[in-house]
Amino acid sequence: MIVEMRTRATQKEIDSVVNRARSLDLDVQLNVGTDKTVVAILGSNTGQISTDAFAVLPGVESVSRIMKPYKLASREFKPKDSIVSIDGVDIGGKHVVVMAGPCAVESEKQLLEAARIIKKAGASVLRGGAFKPRTSPFSFQGLEKAGLELLARAKQQMRLPIVTEVVEPRAVSLVSKYADILQVGARNMQNYALLTKIGKSRHPVILKRGFSCTVTEWLTAADYLLAEGDNQVILCERGIRTFEDSTRFSLDICSIPVLKRFTHLPVIVDPSHAAGHYSYVPALAKAAIAAGADGLLIEVHPNPKEALVDGLQSLTPSDFARLMKELKPVAEAIGRSI
Ligand code: PEP
Ligand code: MN
Repeated sequence: MIVEMRTRATQKEIDSVVNRARSLDLDVQLNVGTDKTVVAILGSNTGQISTDAFAVLPGVESVSRIMKPYKLASREFKPKDSIVSIDGVDIGGKHVVVMAGPCAVESEKQLLEAARIIKKAGASVLRGGAFKPRTSPFSFQGLEKAGLELLARAKQQMRLPIVTEVVEPRAVSLVSKYADILQVGARNMQNYALLTKIGKSRHPVILKRGFSCTVTEWLTAADYLLAEGDNQVILCERGIRTFEDSTRFSLDICSIPVLKRFTHLPVIVDPSHAAGHYSYVPALAKAAIAAGADGLLIEVHPNPKEALVDGLQSLTPSDFARLMKELKPVAEAIGRSI
């Protein structure tokens, strides 16, 4: 249930809504806007409670039910776009943010070179996996803690915020010490214990779309983070599994305008994992921006031929620099910058 307070409702009036909810054994989350406060009333039995229980309270403008399974991620709860700010980088504003780097952190040389390349080309966040959720247990699993330390060094030397994946709840506190943004991978989108643990940490997080999950399931998973008070959530479309096998996954461009309609959360796109091949990445990156994505997450390797993971879909330094130039007119055509 969503309780919209009147403009200039007093704190006392807001408190009385919160207290009424608590007295009915319900949880609340507040969206304090510049001119209005919206109170989300949450619980498994809100359907049994009359909207009048809140509508009669002073300072209440309107009460409505959200019929969708996700509540806090919905535009009903927060009509204005959320902006996630990391070290001066705003994700969800007019400027399109590019995050780039290798799939996995492999060595100091590889990571520092990648960081230098992506920064020079105009990217503003460095990606690199230290813990890799690999489909096969025999594949390279990442450098783990040593990889996090290399990320910290790259961050310090290159002055770039970093995003790196966390694959299990007990690693959240460790990875949070190093990462400016935690990444929840596609395989973990519905790992609710992980989402709850991250939500409690209130750390900025990128929630990738599970490759067999609908947009509704994705936004409902985002509610696990938001319910714990983590309001720095970024969604990342990375392709879904379809019958098509000429690409690694099918990039669901449709999800971008759908998300823009139904959620306030910023949306970025990972063209690399969708494509599975470097030659398709530029076209998909351009399509994502044209469709309204707030940012991109792109795999770039100083020498893709030598990459331990995902070399085929990684851009070379020169291909990445060229793509960054080509993205500018696309962003400008829709009134954004990059
Ligand atoms: C990655 O970003 O390296 C990754 C493993 O992505 P996904 O979870 O989307 O497969
Ligand atoms: Mn990868």
